[in-house]
Amino acid sequence: MSNIKNAIINNMKITYANKKKKDFREINLYKKDKEKKIDDKNNLYLNMKVPEQLDRKTAIRFICSMVKRAQSHKLEKIAFDYEQIKKTIGNILSEEYCAKLFVKNISIASYTFDKYKTKKENTLKEILIFGNFSKEEKDVFKETEIITKNINISRDLANTPGNLMTPNILVKNVKKIFNKDKNIKIKILGEDAIKKLKMNLIYSVGLASKEKSKFIILEYKNGKKNENPVAIIGKGITFDAGGLDIKPAGKFMDMYMDMTGSAIAIGILKSIVDLNIKKNIVVLIPAVENSVSGSSYRPGDIITSMSGKTVAIGNTDAEGRLVMADAITYAERYKPSLLIDIATLTGASLVALGQRATAIMSRSEKIQSEMIKIGNNVGEYLWPLPAWDEFANDLKSDYADIINSGSSRYGGTAKAGMFLYEFIKMYKEKPHWVHLDIAPRMESIDEDNLAKGATGEPIDLLVEYLRK
Ligand SMILES: [Zn+2]
Repeated sequence: MSNIKNAIINNMKITYANKKKKDFREINLYKKDKEKKIDDKNNLYLNMKVPEQLDRKTAIRFICSMVKRAQSHKLEKIAFDYEQIKKTIGNILSEEYCAKLFVKNISIASYTFDKYKTKKENTLKEILIFGNFSKEEKDVFKETEIITKNINISRDLANTPGNLMTPNILVKNVKKIFNKDKNIKIKILGEDAIKKLKMNLIYSVGLASKEKSKFIILEYKNGKKNENPVAIIGKGITFDAGGLDIKPAGKFMDMYMDMTGSAIAIGILKSIVDLNIKKNIVVLIPAVENSVSGSSYRPGDIITSMSGKTVAIGNTDAEGRLVMADAITYAERYKPSLLIDIATLTGASLVALGQRATAIMSRSEKIQSEMIKIGNNVGEYLWPLPAWDEFANDLKSDYADIINSGSSRYGGTAKAGMFLYEFIKMYKEKPHWVHLDIAPRMESIDEDNLAKGATGEPIDLLVEYLRK
């Protein structure tokens, strides 16, 4: 087993061996008839009943539930017999996806956000996987560990509260995360540069906060010299109070997570870098706090965007699409072949989809269906919404070219997506475009068997898409 190194993911170690080691508690999978033979108090086993109807979705939740169960028993070291895993979960998956989904889900399920607890809640220190592994399995284990490590880094960023994750602190984190990566060029624009470039939408949203806005640029060059890059734009609203259209009391609590899009973009890029994928990618992050003060931008204001298009402010809480719009315009200089924007953009996406799928919009049916397919494979589900031209009628303003939030509440997610498309339309050479409204999957739900807070979706999906 010399050729797979042990990985440390979020303070937890994953090790591989041919045989079970002594001081590990083995997770034992059983079907109903074995139920009485071994109980939970047995020192050697922790029994988990395999769901009767096992499909890909239930298998993923089941893998996570095994780790959760071990955590609830305050176990420190657990072991899995990989042959047993393959006999159950592997029945419905290919060799590759069995290995991937198993290691991915034990790693993300073992994650906890207890950094700010003086007494740590998670006791789990080490997971041992034992069995005879093929070379392919070993390769998948190794790659999956890289991706899940970055998924958990992304979750850490998203879970960090607003006082500890300002635009400036996000910049510091970005520098720390990418500091050893030679293929990455980091550029940070401060407020003066933002103003000078006429990124007035970003500038205006950030006006109320004493935390100065930043525009983060990450250029990764590892593909062919002349190959147009993929641009990924991640929304980085580090706290969203709503501005003068302030949110109602009780609706603020998770608004520090409004920079999840940027955390996802960072997780994707770091995975691509660590896997040494031969691509050119640019990540752009408008990092801004949407606050309230005498210098707030106002409802009714008309702001000239970087593209030259004038935008009327219908609602200051629809700030995400404003900062994203200027970032989209900035991206044009890279002549991207594909532009993916990732944002916790609308509450309406939760109304439409619940909390079980990210909303996807694209004008390319091919790319959209490919992404949906990969999402189903890796357990990061996408569901499409229409990207129709007619939505432009809902964005009309009486006094400006476009309004950020009209009078009707209907179709809020599609309208927000098409607001962004208005800025893609301004490109001389239009890239393919994918809009991901990740608000539905910003936080885990009980059924996921993950720690409360960020899910890290859809990092795995996009890494798999981009590496092809
Ligand atoms: Zn908002």
